Amino acid sequence: RSSSYSHSFQQYLEDLYLKYKHLREGALASYIPELAKVDPDLFSICVITVDGQVYQVGDYNQLFTIQSISKVFVYGMALEEHGRDYVLTKVGVEPTGEAFNSIILDERSKRPYNPMVNAGAIATTSLIKGSGPTERLNRMLDMFQRYIGHEIFVDISVFMSERTTGHRNRGMAHLMLNFGMIDERIDEALDLYFQQCSFMVNCHDLALMAATIANNGVNPITGERAVDAQYVRDMLSVMYTCGMYNFAGEWVYKVGLPAKSGVSGGIIVIVPNQIGIAVFSPLLDTNGNSIRAIKVCEDISQEFGLHLFDSS
Ligand code: GLU
Repeated sequence: RSSSYSHSFQQYLEDLYLKYKHLREGALASYIPELAKVDPDLFSICVITVDGQVYQVGDYNQLFTIQSISKVFVYGMALEEHGRDYVLTKVGVEPTGEAFNSIILDERSKRPYNPMVNAGAIATTSLIKGSGPTERLNRMLDMFQRYIGHEIFVDISVFMSERTTGHRNRGMAHLMLNFGMIDERIDEALDLYFQQCSFMVNCHDLALMAATIANNGVNPITGERAVDAQYVRDMLSVMYTCGMYNFAGEWVYKVGLPAKSGVSGGIIVIVPNQIGIAVFSPLLDTNGNSIRAIKVCEDISQEFGLHLFDSS
């Protein structure tokens, strides 16, 4: 942070934080009690460059569950394990225009629409290799650890809650089993999916995960490769078209960057070859996206001309 540029960028983030700190619109996720009791005032922004500089403000050490943001990374892992062609036979890449928990499958192919909605994410998770539930979980933990550079744990209360209330996800899994989209180890796949939603991260971890994608799959701080470079493009593509629930079109129109949000209030944004951004604030709009996080990302994209189609 020695240069005046980095000093002013840190100052910019601090001002942005203050600009939205008192915005208290929206509601906490309430489908499980663990998410409904989070402090609504938590708020943090973290930006990490592909050369490892870190800028952060607010509650960036606060842990929360990663929820749907995990879907991007598990998709990358499934691609590495099975290749693009095979994964495409099990999970499509079309935006749905439906809610994230829609049970609808593609009429002709019977595939779930894309890996960012629950059905597609469960199908993706079911592809993770391993001889049993423990090995599959451990392999997934190893993958996440490559992105964040340290150990990661499951929030057991959130996991148990997801598992005991996840009837809709269970219904989707059965429907996909019926159509041969997932194998018969259905409870194992669902448990793994509920575990992946319950991994604990903080805003800094998420920004580093985003920066690793921005850096073509290499963690910019540890130097370790987290995912094969050839699949980074696929991860970015589905984030771009399907990453923001039913707000994906408007998000691309306004912010113009690949992103993924989760129901616990996190959003990651990738500026390819430049930076990873993460924002955390648990108050959500009716699409399930963090309201403060959207505002912050709109401002950053605008201020620095980051929209992929910006020509000015
Ligand atoms: N655990 C949630 C579910 O499967 C994920 C919600 C989300 O972040 O979109 O319903």
